[in-house]
Amino acid sequence: MNRKYRRPLIAGNWKMNKTPSETRAYMTRLRELLPKGRGCDVAICLPAVCIPAAVRTLRETRVCIGAENCNANPAGAYTGEISASMLVDASCKYVILGHSERRAMGETDRDVRNKLQAVLDAGMTPIVCCGESLEQREVGVTEEWISMQLKYALQGLDDRSVRKLVIAYEPIWAIGTGRTATPEQAEAVCAHIRTLIRKLYDARTARATVILYGGSMNEKNARELLMQPDIDGGLIGGASLVPEKLIQIVETATAIE
Ligand code: PEP
Repeated sequence: MNRKYRRPLIAGNWKMNKTPSETRAYMTRLRELLPKGRGCDVAICLPAVCIPAAVRTLRETRVCIGAENCNANPAGAYTGEISASMLVDASCKYVILGHSERRAMGETDRDVRNKLQAVLDAGMTPIVCCGESLEQREVGVTEEWISMQLKYALQGLDDRSVRKLVIAYEPIWAIGTGRTATPEQAEAVCAHIRTLIRKLYDARTARATVILYGGSMNEKNARELLMQPDIDGGLIGGASLVPEKLIQIVETATAIE
């Protein structure tokens, strides 16, 4: 983390877990546990049906709500889809885009780029995910792959827009597996992403971009990961489902100077 240039962010990703009733119970507990200090931004990205319950229960707290996906089109005949303006109206601040689980369901780099524009235009913060498979890591193409994913996602964006993004490096082999990247592995890729942004834009933009690590981060390993200079926070799946664990990670991030 480098607090001089960036605010840390701890973001939960619930995936397809928890009902609206469970959301109310979770958020009530989260409110009780939330530390007073504001040294770290906190967001929870959750299924669309849970958003109203979360917003109501967290009213007047500093926790932001986010979605796990959105459609790139403003409105129309897209049965089952949700637009960026609907999410804004529901009080969302963040949207996860290009998560590897969605890419595995057919989401392409072009989809990610289009959705990113829709989210920015709506005034929300995209959390753009990138990450390599185990096979790509083993053959040594991690950095090229990440560069390619991000070059696609950022295509045509100016520096002011890029400074509004959050980028999440999530090695696919570490997501939901309990096999966390080592702090050195995670830092190497997050530093690579910052260098890429410096090359594509400028030093100011690279310094301002918030880069998260995601992949089996939990309350036990968070400190070592968050101590790395280019890791500005975490995108947290499994551990974010338990309020006590998420809050411990928030406290850890808050305590790092
Ligand atoms: C994720 O899905 O974004 C994630 C990082 O999951 P987990 O923390 O469970 O590995």
